[in-house]
Amino acid sequence: MQASHRKILIDALSIPTAPFAEHAVIDYIREFCKCRRGLTLTKDQNGNLLVRYRQGSGPVKHPVCFTAHLDHPGFVAERMMDAKTLRARWRGGVHRAYFTDGKVRFWVGQRTVRGVIKSVRVRGRGGDARVETADITVRSPLPPGTVGMWDLPEPKIGSRFIRARDCDDMAGVAGMLCCLDQLCRYKPGGEGYFLFTRAEEVGFIGAMAACRAGTIPKKCVVIAVETSSELPSARIGDGPVLRVGDRSSIYTPAATAFCRTVADALAKRTKSFTYQRKLMDGGTCEAAAYCDFGYQATGICLALGNYHNMGIERKKIAAEYVSTRDFENLVKWFIALVKSGNSYSLHNAEFRARLQKLEKQFAKLLKDTRSPTQV
Ligand SMILES: [Zn+2]
Repeated sequence: MQASHRKILIDALSIPTAPFAEHAVIDYIREFCKCRRGLTLTKDQNGNLLVRYRQGSGPVKHPVCFTAHLDHPGFVAERMMDAKTLRARWRGGVHRAYFTDGKVRFWVGQRTVRGVIKSVRVRGRGGDARVETADITVRSPLPPGTVGMWDLPEPKIGSRFIRARDCDDMAGVAGMLCCLDQLCRYKPGGEGYFLFTRAEEVGFIGAMAACRAGTIPKKCVVIAVETSSELPSARIGDGPVLRVGDRSSIYTPAATAFCRTVADALAKRTKSFTYQRKLMDGGTCEAAAYCDFGYQATGICLALGNYHNMGIERKKIAAEYVSTRDFENLVKWFIALVKSGNSYSLHNAEFRARLQKLEKQFAKLLKDTRSPTQV
């Protein structure tokens, strides 16, 4: 992996974040754009960030708009119950059993404060019980609003895997930033939008607000970038996944077809590029919300291990992981998509052409409606 991409990835995966408490990642993206020429950054009324890349003069009819979310399941400090006990709000989907004696880390400026979960308060019962707050023994008092995450090792990029607290969705965010970095270096012609949304983990709150506010230009093909739990049919390491849909819905066929056509062309040019095309029905992703709001939308994801830090092997909190090669191919695919903005068609042109060829080929036979005995 290129040194600049390695740095972006490690930086992004090291920043603390939680639903509605994404300010540190937002600051990082602001800084990132400041150091690079040719990018326009805007913040919508809900705090979502939109970065635009534009080179060349011709119009781009349907530019791509990649979107990734800035949050990951986590804690936000509420108040000190006594000198050593912090009550923190929890937001995100993690099973209650994983909280028992859980080790947590809070970020106060450059300093981190460690803590251990004493007890949790839940809403609902049995398998539906959702943790709402946790009382955490901490070494020193913490101010309200401090962000906390599971106390896991710092991110690591290995030859096979990238391991971190929050691949979901900081690997997606980093993939988009690596694409922007590359675009700013080589300045190919094209137009691309990069939306960074807030509070996905509690139900696409930032994404829906972006739709209502008109943050994404209507002409865009929206591509939601995610990590999604590995499936028997979509393995980590077999390439980034083009999602035809999720647990809730099917995405826009033309948008999915466009990503596929671009990927097939890229695979022809670049031997190391592989991708998969699957229904990832382990969860629902923001693409479903974009489709619901009338956008042409689809999704691309990285197959993820230890989804939401729920370690599969030891049934304990663990680092999430994705494939290093999948990540590198994801970035290549993004760049190719930005450059191909002008080839998007609301109809699957390639498929239609193939059908028309068959129609022509068999037209004579179809016209002949006599039965064999009449011949
Ligand atoms: Zn998630």
